[in-house]
Amino acid sequence: MTCRLCGSARLHSVLDLGATPPCEKFLAATELDAPEATYPLHLRLCQDCLLLQIPALITPEETFTEYAYFSSFSDSWVDHARRFVADATDRVGLNQDSFVVEVASNDGYLLAHVAGAGIGCLGIEPSVNVGEAARRRGVPTVTAFLDEQVAADVRARHGAADLLVANNVYAHVPDLTGFTRSLRTLLADDGWLSIEVHHALNLVALGQFDTIYHEHFQYYTVLSAIRALAAGGLAVVDVEMLPTHGGSLRLWARPTELAAAPSPRVAAALAAEQDAGLHRVDGYLGLRPRTETIRHDLLRYLLECRARGERVVGYGAPGKGNTLLNYCGIRTDLLEYTVDRNPYKHGRFTPGTRIPILDPAQLDKDRPDVIVVLPWNLEAEITDQLGYTAEWGARLVYPLPTLHVVDMTEGNRR
Ligand SMILES: [Zn+2]
Repeated sequence: MTCRLCGSARLHSVLDLGATPPCEKFLAATELDAPEATYPLHLRLCQDCLLLQIPALITPEETFTEYAYFSSFSDSWVDHARRFVADATDRVGLNQDSFVVEVASNDGYLLAHVAGAGIGCLGIEPSVNVGEAARRRGVPTVTAFLDEQVAADVRARHGAADLLVANNVYAHVPDLTGFTRSLRTLLADDGWLSIEVHHALNLVALGQFDTIYHEHFQYYTVLSAIRALAAGGLAVVDVEMLPTHGGSLRLWARPTELAAAPSPRVAAALAAEQDAGLHRVDGYLGLRPRTETIRHDLLRYLLECRARGERVVGYGAPGKGNTLLNYCGIRTDLLEYTVDRNPYKHGRFTPGTRIPILDPAQLDKDRPDVIVVLPWNLEAEITDQLGYTAEWGARLVYPLPTLHVVDMTEGNRR
């Protein structure tokens, strides 16, 4: 096994989460008696370029051709996209002659704001069903995985992008250097690339182990992202810290040959990583004990609920929840079911742990004592959505960054 960025064979084990199924493989009832494939989930660090990575044991084609995640189901994502388009329009100076391309454009939740402003745009989205949803809302969308051939075809047919957006996709590409060259091909020579990825500083420092799953092949610090983009002829000029996914990076990059010197924010982000020890190997070794503590605290809490005869269910069925459930070994004896706002998931079961996923209306019918929130990164939004559970005094459990309980009987109703 070698590093997919620099080719080094010096990969150091950081966290071994055992073997689990791919986290987006929600099971239909008819699949429950069939075998279910599991794959090792073992995070390693390249000791030479410091890229955190797992082996690419599944292909993006297996995951994303019929994808269950529609970005528009999250209110906070839709707001996030609206603000991004407004900010990017100012930074890049977009006007009616500009052209915006988004890679992994999902259901068009972001480009809809670009199209709505009368600016030309194109989405590139591999999943047939979510790409169709984008076209229905008026966002032109090519159904494809971005590679160097697709990039050349799009540039020849539509022109180069003044703004190229690649949000929450840069972790999902096994051919990291080929994908990065494809981004450069799509981008105008004076264009801007905007990338959002989870920040590995938060993964390591806050024990966010549930962001590790088979579909995420690499996990970036600002340092390793600078190195990865440089391999494709792109230079990072600015970085923003975002609260999304428990702490993400928005990297702004431009073609190396014209890029200005990096902003002070890039230097500050690199300094924060260095202070946290992430520019050397031993700074990563605290992740394992942090992860084990989260597992032990959650299991202890659920076992205590069980001993008291309380009814415990989940809220949300995000991909990351499946890393948490599988690693912790939580099944229907400890979590009766979970609920999710995405109707695609209703009647399905979580991979590996086979916990039923129901409509959120079930909560009001059953009035469970305890609700474990799996998308813990949306704590404020979800505590708000679940304000009505104060009617029966539910307790909301957020397992990360350290287990904490929001008691809806004590004036927490919003
Ligand atoms: Zn490397």
